[in-house]
Amino acid sequence: MAYKTISPYTGKEVKSFPTATDFEVDAALAKAQTAFESWRTSSFAERADVMSNVAKILRENADEYARLISLEMGKLLSEAQAEVELSAQISEYYAEHAAEQLAPRVLAPKGYPEGSVQLVSDPLGVLYIVEPWNFPFYQIIRVSAPQLSAGNVIVMKHASNVPQCAAAFEEIFRKAGAPEGTFQNLYLSHEQSDHVIVDPRVRGVALTGSERAGAQVAAAAGKALKKSTLELGGSDAFIVLDDADVKKAAKWAAFGRNWNAGQVCVSSKRLIVADSVYDEFVETYRELASELVAGDPTDPTTTLAPLSSREAVDRLQKQLDEAVAHGAKAEKLGKPVPEEGFFFQPMMVTDIAEDNPAYQAEFFGPIAQVYRVPDEATAIKLANDSPYGLGGSVFTKDVERGRRVARQLDTGMVFINQPTKVAADIPFGGVKRSGYGHELIDLGIHEFVNQKVVGVC
Ligand code: NAP
Repeated sequence: MAYKTISPYTGKEVKSFPTATDFEVDAALAKAQTAFESWRTSSFAERADVMSNVAKILRENADEYARLISLEMGKLLSEAQAEVELSAQISEYYAEHAAEQLAPRVLAPKGYPEGSVQLVSDPLGVLYIVEPWNFPFYQIIRVSAPQLSAGNVIVMKHASNVPQCAAAFEEIFRKAGAPEGTFQNLYLSHEQSDHVIVDPRVRGVALTGSERAGAQVAAAAGKALKKSTLELGGSDAFIVLDDADVKKAAKWAAFGRNWNAGQVCVSSKRLIVADSVYDEFVETYRELASELVAGDPTDPTTTLAPLSSREAVDRLQKQLDEAVAHGAKAEKLGKPVPEEGFFFQPMMVTDIAEDNPAYQAEFFGPIAQVYRVPDEATAIKLANDSPYGLGGSVFTKDVERGRRVARQLDTGMVFINQPTKVAADIPFGGVKRSGYGHELIDLGIHEFVNQKVVGVC
């Protein structure tokens, strides 16, 4: 009974679900393969109808879905509502753009008439996606909207703590008119997941989650010679330069570090602040983070959600203890958080030396790592001294300077004067140990298509 809804607010188990049997897994893959044979020949217009319907269903039932998200992984209801709306926007985006993004490309090879060679985008087949709990709706749609629009079909393994969100999504696609078998949710064990990856019916694998999971799943995919994409962890640098609007930067840092209880791959995890503005920045950050109100995530006055699970609390506490044991200073911010449920006290950690394990670590919760730097060059060096390369921010009143610094950061995304932004029409992806491949816009839709040459020469 690994798949369970446990309320992060109360700590109590609500419902559990049995793991799929091997027979069910095999039947699901057979169903997916059958569905692919007809879905691949459906028109873009038919697929766009499904995507528009998904958006409509998400919006019509936004409150119900937001409550489910909040129940299972604990996020604030307002944040869950925003997640449902973002998921609707992504569905809509592909309903509008998939056909044009996958239109055949006409090539003009030397010596042949123009149009004699075309590059067409055919779907690959059954894709296996593994998703995390931190955005239990958005993470699903980010891969499935482009891939279903491209004519692929999907078998999903969601995180074991959000089984009802996973089931809800299968139902959403069914109600939206996606033919049976085009999107299936399975409650798989890790061992079954390995079997799914090697199954010859599965043609590609996409995972969003931790480095550990990414390495295991991608190794299995690589061994089976299948393409994979990985969206993994991050430890975004949030650089505040000497000419920044300090109050604005601190306000964004308090948001960027603590929204979704700090459990965002692109949270502003390392606050790197120029010496000349450090004291003002830290004082303002301290004040704002201390105002966070921990409590019932469905209460509109709550501003700090619990973490997703007891394991998440224990893991973060262990990282914090280790950081302090290696010489870092940890300061508690705000009133004590409730003892019941999986709350974590917001913290600010300073004096993190290069040999402290925290220096290279991702803190998945409301702990800000704060670094004081003498100048821009040191800020860039420190930002890049990380195994991760997902997002990042640069705060400066000089946008050109911000752009120049952005180009020197080894990450997949950098935003000037705000934390890493997520939107339906901005691509998402990282470098280094944050993974490979892209999701969203045309980059995402091209990840799992066969770009086939069709020539008449
Ligand atoms: P996790 O343990 O890696 O879980 C993510 C998913 O992988 C879950 O469905 C999990 O299933 C599955 N999984 C784990 N090990 C597996 C294995 N050996 N075989 C098959 N499936 C496996 O992730 P987490 O630690 O809970 O989530 C947080 C991490 O995800 C952070 O590092 C965060 O930065 C990252 N993340 C990245 C992005 C991005 O877009 N770059 C977005 C969100 C989160 P079970 O629940 O059954 O173990």
